[in-house]
Amino acid sequence: MIPYDNLSKVNEPYTLLFQSRFNQFLDKGWYILGEEVKKFQEDFAHYNQMNYCVGVANGLDALILAIWALHLPKGSEIIVPSNTYIASIISIIHAGHKPVLVEPDIRTYNIDPNKIADAITPKTKAIMVVHLYGKCCEMDPILEIADKHGLHIIEDCAQSHGAKYKGRMAGTFGIMSGFSFYPSKSLGALGDAGAVVTNDPALCEELKMIRNYGSHGKYYNEVVGYNSRLDEVQALFLEIKLPYLDKINEHKRKLASMYLEQLNDQFVLPIVHPDYFDVYHIFNIRHPKRDAIKEYLLKLDIGTEIHYPVAPNKQKAMAYLLAKKSFPIAEEIHSTTLSLPCSSCHTETDIQMVIDALNAF
Ligand SMILES: *Cc1c(COP(=O)(O)O)cnc(C)c1O
Repeated sequence: MIPYDNLSKVNEPYTLLFQSRFNQFLDKGWYILGEEVKKFQEDFAHYNQMNYCVGVANGLDALILAIWALHLPKGSEIIVPSNTYIASIISIIHAGHKPVLVEPDIRTYNIDPNKIADAITPKTKAIMVVHLYGKCCEMDPILEIADKHGLHIIEDCAQSHGAKYKGRMAGTFGIMSGFSFYPSKSLGALGDAGAVVTNDPALCEELKMIRNYGSHGKYYNEVVGYNSRLDEVQALFLEIKLPYLDKINEHKRKLASMYLEQLNDQFVLPIVHPDYFDVYHIFNIRHPKRDAIKEYLLKLDIGTEIHYPVAPNKQKAMAYLLAKKSFPIAEEIHSTTLSLPCSSCHTETDIQMVIDALNAF
């Protein structure tokens, strides 16, 4: 059996470290916003070549808090790709604003820079870019549009830890960037966790207040805040794993390169371009017979996933907002995409078996 992913195997290399550091944590008895959160924030800001990192409870909250911190007029419009994971869209709604969906480029699966300008209205205040599957968005034209129209850029980096565009890290292009450390992400905690990174000291202070009931010091509340603190234990686990993130990415890139070199031309493969350092949080292929391939692989004991089976505009939850709108490119991607095993738990032998099975389809 080759599972799509195996999280206990993913975390196996760190077990001994987790255990010894967890014992120290038990001895210390400090559970909320302690040394581990502080240390991880410093380490993760440094990893991303950014000045500040604020740990929060999960990736969705990272995006919501980032939007709140901007204090946009109520009902502002924020542009977001039509094929993203639903969390990006939901974050805009929870923050009190209106998501305006823009179609992706079918070759990159990321927001199509040529379609952004048409979606801008006087109410547009920000663009939320999502570096989907671990490939950065085409940032040069997006930065140009944002600059021309005075829009903020918020980056959803939940799938792009360590990805680069023209040598520059994902998470360094916008005013703030939200990360998720959901267990299956390339840098995954052992539970929920997230973070916002920024270079702006005032936004960093604001985010630290918002995540902690709007207070700097205990019992002095300056704004109506929220409770979304990064858990101390998760920060400890993340601190242990972060030094291995580049190795994890290299491993996944090696597995991806096997697929890219060997899969035959019946499959649409992710594009590769020298401007992009892709980290393959998800390695996807596309095929009109996606469902049949998924079943065929399952019979051969090979697990796959679909990211995502239903386009956001087709979700029941979004009906009130998007039912009348049509997003043919997003729908095409959602009906043909298939995610293949490409995790740090997989060996090259595993991937060779998947390749041989797929090429025989
Ligand atoms: C995982 C993910 C999120 C949300 O992260 P959580 O930690 O699950 O809240 C947001 N955006 C994208 C693109 C994601 O993949």
